[in-house]
Formats: sequence, structure tokens, C-alpha cells
Amino acid sequence: MSNVPHTPRYIDLCTEGNVWNYGLDDNRPLLPPTVNNNTVVSNDSVFRCTVSAIPGSPELAKKCRLPLGITVHPFRDQRNLHILQTNIVRCRYCRAYINPYVHISDSRRWRCNICSQSNDLPDNFSYKKNCDRRPEMQNTTVEYFAGSDYMIRSPQSPCYVFILDVSQQAIDSQYLNIFVKQLLRCLDEIPGGEETRVAFFCIDSGIHCFQFTDTKDKPRHYIVADVDDPFFPVEDGLLVELKNFREPIRELIQSLPDLFQHEPRQSSNCLGAGIRLVYELISDIGGRVSVFQASLPDSGVGALQDRENNNTNAENFGLSTDYYKNIALESTIKQISYDFFVFSKKFIDLATLAELSKITGGSIHYYPDWHSSHSLVEKARFEAQLHRYLTRKLGCEAVLRIRCSTGIKLHSFYGNFFVRSPDLMALPNVSPDATLGALIEVDESFCGRQSVVFQAALLYTTSKGERRIRVHTLALPVCSEFGLLFERFDLLASVAFLVKMASDRVLNGLALAACRESIVNAVADALRSYNRSVGLRKNALYAPFKGQLKFFALYIVGLLKHRVFSISPTAGSSTDNRIAEMLLFRNAPIEVILNEIYPTLYAIHTLSSDYVGLPQRLPLTYASISPNGIYLLDTGSFVFLYICYAAPQHLLESLLGVMQFAHIDETIGFRKLDCAINHCFLKLVKTLQTFRGNYVAPIVTIREDGKRRSLFTQRLIEDKTDDSRRYVDFIHQIQREIHN
Ligand SMILES: [Zn+2]
Repeated sequence: MSNVPHTPRYIDLCTEGNVWNYGLDDNRPLLPPTVNNNTVVSNDSVFRCTVSAIPGSPELAKKCRLPLGITVHPFRDQRNLHILQTNIVRCRYCRAYINPYVHISDSRRWRCNICSQSNDLPDNFSYKKNCDRRPEMQNTTVEYFAGSDYMIRSPQSPCYVFILDVSQQAIDSQYLNIFVKQLLRCLDEIPGGEETRVAFFCIDSGIHCFQFTDTKDKPRHYIVADVDDPFFPVEDGLLVELKNFREPIRELIQSLPDLFQHEPRQSSNCLGAGIRLVYELISDIGGRVSVFQASLPDSGVGALQDRENNNTNAENFGLSTDYYKNIALESTIKQISYDFFVFSKKFIDLATLAELSKITGGSIHYYPDWHSSHSLVEKARFEAQLHRYLTRKLGCEAVLRIRCSTGIKLHSFYGNFFVRSPDLMALPNVSPDATLGALIEVDESFCGRQSVVFQAALLYTTSKGERRIRVHTLALPVCSEFGLLFERFDLLASVAFLVKMASDRVLNGLALAACRESIVNAVADALRSYNRSVGLRKNALYAPFKGQLKFFALYIVGLLKHRVFSISPTAGSSTDNRIAEMLLFRNAPIEVILNEIYPTLYAIHTLSSDYVGLPQRLPLTYASISPNGIYLLDTGSFVFLYICYAAPQHLLESLLGVMQFAHIDETIGFRKLDCAINHCFLKLVKTLQTFRGNYVAPIVTIREDGKRRSLFTQRLIEDKTDDSRRYVDFIHQIQREIHN
């Protein structure tokens, strides 16, 4: 008899207490030998599909009921990026770029894996050895220098415009002090060359403009009072080169808080008029507009009204005026994008304002707890995010085209951009923190082909004025065996994709209840299909032993309990808050979404100083928390350090530098100390940040008896929280549903 332990085909989710015991199986695509370099694997944090093998026919795709979509993080910060100054080899027929997965028929021909047509190999590719060694044949991401063929006009130098709310509400929020401190700190690190230009506008009931005329003197201050039909008081000096006016610009930034501190301040805000003027100022060159807003823009053109009532009312997710949307549409043509930083608990009608970012490739940063007892936490987040925002790479005048092999169709896209044609998205600015999703459909059989390819090509201008093309290629095997498809389910891509799709649908008017139902159906359909394939049994809910499908329901519970999708009255999200988080989800990298939906919990008190990689993650339940433990919870936006009452003194001392629990001060930021456990903790935080693609999350200390405790405990989602049910209840609900 063999001693090899028997591997079960499936597990029963109804009786399985902790699926984390099984670990998350590796799910990398296994490519067939028919592709040229089948050992080259694409970076799944850049390009990923919800399955690691594509169903072999439309019938199979329908029958398995697995979510089918892709996520692309086209401008992600990448180490060791291959930048090629060479001839760009593209398919003559469909314009796809040569990649590691094309078929090299002989020393002179290559077969395109998008359209299957045969192309000539250029001379420098001629020998198979040469060909295989080329970077574009060995890497799934490469970047090319693009010539003048890829330009509509010569590259423009970066242009940054700052629009600052200085109404009474904004001054009270004191965001300006943090803004000033960070901008002064980062001014020399802002991406751009010699020609970088900047402008500043402050907004209350009028538009404050600053004209720089002398490289040594302070700028002149003008106020535009006619906000119904605004026009500039002066013709030049508002947008100036940073290098020539560095000193007066620094002086202006420094003086801003004092300039607007005096009482009484104007309580109204005319952002609509300010946006219109800024659009006119930079419409010839394009640029990035950063809006810092703390009040409802309620005067002048584009004025909005307070229309908040019931926070689950989908009507409020619609636009109250087309004013901002129309400017956004014009801005995509003029290569202008808008990013928002919002500090307000009060309604500012983000649904309407956010059109500016949604259409132009911008982003929204929202700080709802700015005025609450968690304000220090929010300020730390603003500081970290603003620093990242000001110093991260910038891609201008970008277009992204996604191609896929015959037999697959791309449908809806989810993210912030303007869809110019069925496979082409325009992004006036592209950020390294933006990820988009696309729904795919298998619309014909692959006729014997064993693999399919997706290719995303981002054409953009660097902040130094170089035109480049970054090409990402993802290849997946075709799978025609029904049972095997369920093992090819990709948990993280599927959940992130569903979150993007759900956010987009609610933002476009779908009621929350209907959205929740479709999310439950996504997991119920997939498990029903699997359970039918293995033979349904009453009182059981099977998931394949191999693969990641067994975790699907767990993450869906996290999604349904997340404050954005929760219909619990205690979720307490305002309309603006929900919209801000849905906009974040629509645009965020998958690691950020997944940490929000199902945060990662680690024990710090048991961490050994020589650990490698990541420690074992713990289930999100009270059962994981020991009374003398110290824990790290990564929620994507924050890293919580949770300290239990009976944590050992020597750990408190070496981690936090305090002698006893009572001395822990939640309001003091985490400090680096020369102790092993402190180093280990920071090493883990750094590793987690790398996984998030450098998306910054500040460390927040939480005492078991502190005011912030609920920030931690409400994330233990497998337990019964408030009026929402436990994970095990959800499993039984699905089990009953699929047997009916
Ligand atoms: Zn082709």
C-alpha cells in the first residue's frame, strides 16, 4: 500500500472553520510549449485576469459562472524596467507589439498572438538565439522610446496648478498648514525638468490670483470678484517657470496660512468659477490641477446646493449639474486632469465635482474624519498621501490601448479615463497609483489554440518631455476541462475586479440593494456550478481542495460588510463618503482594494527577528486575539498597531519605548528605535507597502482601552458585527440558496 497521503478533491465549507489553514495556493498561469518563451511569467501586480486559464469556449465560460475580467496597473512603479531604444516590432495587421509569447515559425517569421497573422522578423532578430535573448522577448513589460510618429504635438513640459479653498470652513480645518509644510518640503522633488511651470489660486467668495513679475519680489495679489462671468485681471505672470521664480514661489507658499487667517473669512466658495479660469489659463499646454476643498462650492458659475438626505438613496449619486462634467470633457481634449483632496464631514456634492477626476484620469483623496476624534490619524494620512502625490512619477498626454486575442472581447472598462474608442482610453495624466478593470467575454471558440494573450500599451510623455510606450503582455492557457476551471479561479483578481465593477455600477445609478444582490450571486453562481459538477449533497457546500475558490465567500463577506457596500444603519457613511470610497475602489490597485475588503492581520509579539517574507496571517476574528498580544492590521489606507492590555513589558519597551501599557500615547506617531522587535515591525510594514505598489498607509497606534479601539475591532469581520452576520451564517445562506 502506498503511504502517499490522499489529497481530497474538495472541502466542505459548511464544516471547515478556518480556510486559512490551507494557505492560498499559487495560481500562476502554466503556459503550453507552443508559445515561444513559456517560462516567462507576467507580473500579476501589473496585469492580471480573474482566472489563470481561459474557458475554451463561450459555452464553457457560461457554464462555469466564474467572474471574467482583467485588471491593469499600467504605470505602476517598477524596478528593473527594460527601456529600449530600438526599432519597435509590431504586427503589420493588428499593430500588436512583439512579445515573449509570439510563435517564431522560422528564422524569418513570427506569428502574432493577437490576430494570428504571420509577420516578417527584422534582421536583428533573425537568428533564434538572438531573438530569444532580446529584452522584448524575455519580459512581459518593456518600455520603448517613441519617435515623432507617436506624437500629435511636441511634448509639453509639466504644468502644476494648485487651487486652494480658503473659505471659513477651510481655514477652520487647518489643512493649509500641512499643505504648506509638505509642498515646501517637496518643491524640489516635484517631477519635471527645467521648464516646469506652476500657478496658485485661492478660492473663497472670490478668486485670489498671484502674479509673479520679478524673480526676487513677492507676487502681486489680485482678487476676481465677478464669479458669474470670471476673467483674469492680468494677462501674464500667473503661470510661471518654477526654476526662475523659486524664491518668490516659496515665499508665497509660506505666507498662505497668515494671508487668509484674519477674521472674518468668507463662508462661500466659488470653485466652479476658479476651475473655469484655470482651464482657460492652461488649455494650450495642458497640465495637472490639484484641488484642495473643504466646503461646498456654493457661489458663482457651477454653484452647487446641499441636497444630502438619505445616504442609501442612489439618486444622490447622480449629477446635480453638467457644468463640471462638460469642463472635464473639454479638458480631456486639452490634456488637463484634476485631482481632489477633500476635508469635510459636510456635504460638498462629490458626485458632481468628481466628474472632473473621473473623466480626466484624476484621483480623489477624501478625509471624512478630519474633524473627529480620529483627526490625528486623518492628518497623518493626508501628510503621507500628499507627499506621495507630489513626488510620484507623472505621465502626461497618455493613451492606453488594450488588445486581446481573437475569441475574446473586451466590454466595459472601470477606472478614471475617457473611453475614446472600444479599446482606447485617453488619460491627460496617468498616475502610478491607478489600476483599471475591464469585463471580458469569450465570444468564440479558440479552434485548437492553446493560449490567449492580452496586451496593454500605454503611450505617454515623461515629466522630462520624452515620449514613451510601455507595453504589458499577459498570456493565459486555454482550459477546456470543466472541472479544472474552478481550480484556475484567481481570488485576488476576482474580488478586486468585482469591487471595481460594483463601485462603477452604483456610481452610475444602480441601487445598493441590487448591487449587493449581484455580489452575492457572483459567489453563489460559481459555487452552484462547482457543486453541480461534483454532485450536490444536502447540507454541504463544496469548494475545490486545490486553488483559491474556497476563499471566495470569505472575501465576499468582507465586501458586503465594508462600510461602502453595507446597508446597516450603523455603517454611518455619508453620501460623499460612499462616493469617495467607490471612486477609490474604481481606480485603486488591487492590493489596496483587497486590504480594505479583507485586511491582513499578523501577530507581532510572536515575530522572530530572523523571519523571511511574510508571517502567517490570522483570521479576522476575536479568536485570533490573545490578551497579551500585539497585532498589525493592514487596511490598505492605514497600518494599525493594536496593543492588548496584558502585552509583555519587554515588548512594549523595545517596540514603543514605554515601560508600561498605561504610558502608551496614541497621539504620538510610531518612532524608530534601535531594538530588534522595532526593526522587525518596520521591516514588515515596508514589505507590506511594497506589496501595495508603494501606496502609502501611515502607522496608527491603538490601545485596547483607547478611543480608537473600534477602528481595529470593526475590521474583525468574520465575527458578528453590529447587525451583520458571521461568515458561517453567510456560508449556510449560500448553501441553502444553491440547493433551492
Ligand atoms: Zn496581429
